[in-house]
Amino acid sequence: MNHDENAFRPRRQPEEAKDDRIYSTTCPHCGAEVYYKLEVKDEKRLYCLSCGKQLPNPHYDPSDPRRRRRLLSQGLAIALVIAVFAAAAWFLLRYTFPA
Ligand SMILES: [Zn+2]
Repeated sequence: MNHDENAFRPRRQPEEAKDDRIYSTTCPHCGAEVYYKLEVKDEKRLYCLSCGKQLPNPHYDPSDPRRRRRLLSQGLAIALVIAVFAAAAWFLLRYTFPA
């Protein structure tokens, strides 16, 4: 009588890796709360829905060090793989055909 075991499968949370939280900041012009998501990280300025003026985005990151670091680590990983393969080929050649 095991036909119900699928009912106890753990459910996956689809947005578990995504930061979908809603942040809020106070408009410096009118004092209203401005709500935003992390999706606007690349936007330099937010718009206040209450007074329509711009305010600086607290999460704006002009240098984007995370993206740069990711690219750098990818490049390092590729360079490491190439170096390992080159060393392996060199050792293989050296010990297969000794001078
Ligand atoms: Zn405002």
